[in-house]
Order: sequence, then C-alpha cells, then structure tokens
Amino acid sequence: MKIAKHIRSLPRAGIRVLFDMANRMEDVIHLEIGCPDLPTPAAVCDAGIDAIRSGQTRYTPNAGIDELRASVASYASRRKAIRVGADNVVITTGGMGGLASTFAAVLDPGDEVLVPDPGWPNYSMQISCCNGVPIAYDLCRESKCRPQTSKIESLITERTKAIVVNSPSNPTGAVIEEETAHEILDLARGKGILVVSDEVYEDIVYGRANPSFLREGALDNVACVYSFSKTWSMTGWRVGYVVTAADLAAQIGKLQEVYYACASSVSQHAALAALAMSEDETAGMLAVYRRRLDIVTEVFKKNNITFVEPEGAFYCLADIAPSGMGSDDFAVQLLEAEGVAVAPGNAFGRNSENMVRICFAVADEKLREGLERFARFLGKASG
Ligand code: PLP
Repeated sequence: MKIAKHIRSLPRAGIRVLFDMANRMEDVIHLEIGCPDLPTPAAVCDAGIDAIRSGQTRYTPNAGIDELRASVASYASRRKAIRVGADNVVITTGGMGGLASTFAAVLDPGDEVLVPDPGWPNYSMQISCCNGVPIAYDLCRESKCRPQTSKIESLITERTKAIVVNSPSNPTGAVIEEETAHEILDLARGKGILVVSDEVYEDIVYGRANPSFLREGALDNVACVYSFSKTWSMTGWRVGYVVTAADLAAQIGKLQEVYYACASSVSQHAALAALAMSEDETAGMLAVYRRRLDIVTEVFKKNNITFVEPEGAFYCLADIAPSGMGSDDFAVQLLEAEGVAVAPGNAFGRNSENMVRICFAVADEKLREGLERFARFLGKASG
C-alpha cells in the first residue's frame, strides 16, 4: 500500500509498545500509562447520563455548544484574572484534539516548532503529521527540568512558527518559573511566534501554582490548551478546549468540521457539570496524588534511587543509569522479571535515555508494591 512517507516514518509512541506488551501478560502492575485511576465525579457522570436520556446525542456546533464555550470563558476569566469571551474558546476532543488542531491551523510545510526534551512525544508526532519540523529544546536536570529561555532562544530560526511549553510537564513533573514564562512570552511577542502552552495538568501541583500563559495582553501570542481528562478524571470522555485569539480560535473551530465535526455532545454536557463543581471537590483528588507522591519519595529515598522531584502532574522520572542499561531494555527486562510496566525514558527524547517514567496515578498499595519491585530490580541490575 502506498502510504504517505511522513506517516509511514512516524514511530509508534514508545509508551504504547510497552503497554501492549504488558497487556499480553497477567498480574502486571501498570506504572507506564498516564491515566488517572480515580473515578469521574458522580455529578459529571449524572450529567452525561441525563444528556443521553434527554436526547443531547447529535452533532453540536463545530466549536462546541454555546453554554460550554461561555462557561469555559467565564471559568478561565475568573481563574486567570483576565477577560476572555466565548469566541476565544474552542471545545475539542481532549487536549490532544486541541493541540492537533492548533498545529494544523498554524503550520505551513517546513515550519519549525520548538518542543521540550524530555517531552510528551505526541507533540512531535502531531507536528510531523502537519509536515512541520519538531526541534527539541533541552530540559536539564541541573535546572530541575524547568524550561530555560536561553535554550529556547538559541534554537529560533526564520522558520520557527511556535514554541511548545508544557507545565506541569509530562514526563518530568516540572513546573515552569514565572520569570521564565514571562521571558518566553516576551521573546515570542518580539519574534511573532506562537506559544502553544499545554496546561492540561494545571490543577495538579504540589507546591506553587502553575504560571499560566493565559494572561492579560498575551492572547495574540498564545494558544493555551486544557483538558477535562486530568482535573476531573475524564480521560475516556474526550473533551478539552483551547483558549486563544478569536481569529485563531475561528480557524481551529473550522478544523473541527474537517476532522471531528465536534467533541462528543454527551461529554460536552458532562463538562458543563464539571465546571460547576466546587474546587474543594477536585482538591480531594489532588490530595490523593500528593499522598502517592509521598509514597514515591519514601520508597526512592529509602533505596537511594535518584529522581527528578515532581512539582506537578503525576509522573516521576527515575534514574536507571547505575544499571548501565538503555531505557528500552530496562523496561522490557523489568516487566519480564518483576511484572512491573514503566515507560522507557527514550520515548520522551534523548535527554531521558537513562531514565524511566513512573506514573503514580495508581492505587497506593499497588504503587508501593510496584516501586519496591522496581527498586529490587534496579538494585540487582546495578550489581
Ligand atoms: N498533554 C499532555 C502533556 C498529556 O500528557 C496528555 C495526555 O496524557 C494530553 C496533553 C492530552 O490529554 P487529553 O487528550 O486526554 O486531554
């Protein structure tokens, strides 16, 4: 079959390869996939069921139902102390749909986009699907894997169309510093480059708040991407949104017609209920992740395992360098020897080749058991 070259050459996400392998085995402790184990809140499920029963089961406007766009606009305006309207908002099929549509809307063939390394691999894949060119910028252990303006600036060329920032980050858990966010925004403004800010983990932070790029006066230079998947544990509902300048929002909205028609009607009604929930209710979920981060810290410190201390999200990059193994090899052998699945670091870029990513959105006891087995394997492999 004659498949487009840029699609044929697209690698499969390394996390999925491991996940498929783990799924063919029994009794595996899954620490590889970034899927919250907590249930979707009951009020959200009820709203979804009500939407089905009341016949809200048809196509919606491409950019989403008016009530949800308006509700997102007031939610974002209130939380970020800015003013955005419904015409700045597009409802998308999860954050992924929001990112994919944003890249498709702004990239001409050959345009470069700066992406974090280590970083979520889907950025590069989505950019490549648009015939764009992903260019990795380094996130260094010495700077706690937080983005550094100088590293980004040094890679800007005439072809740079966008800079992807992901804070809190998957896979590092790092949260950008306010000063850096400010600098990157200034840089982007000066050069007429778009900042695509992936803020899907914005509510999952363990110390300081995540500095958002959605701020007064920035709208013309940012496309901020959000999701209902993480804060409300709604990964399977496939609903998220982009907030940006009305002009770009209209183009992203147009692309919904091309690719998806719209986000699921049922999920959009459930999302309305999610936004209506009090923040105290979602704070309960955050407390659970905090407790699990404490488990990770305790087990790793006890076993002298070095790791990038997460400031947000629910991932942790653990150092496997003492084993002398590559991250692919390590993940496969750990799975075979101990029945624990982790994501190989090289799935996120060359800077995490000697690390593996552990997702701690997993029940406490399972998590502890998985980490203990990981520590045992790493200990043995390190001789
Ligand atoms: N951005 C990052 C960094 C992610 O890790 C994910 C999912 O894991 C997404 C975006 C997209 O999530 P969703 O499409 O479920 O909203």
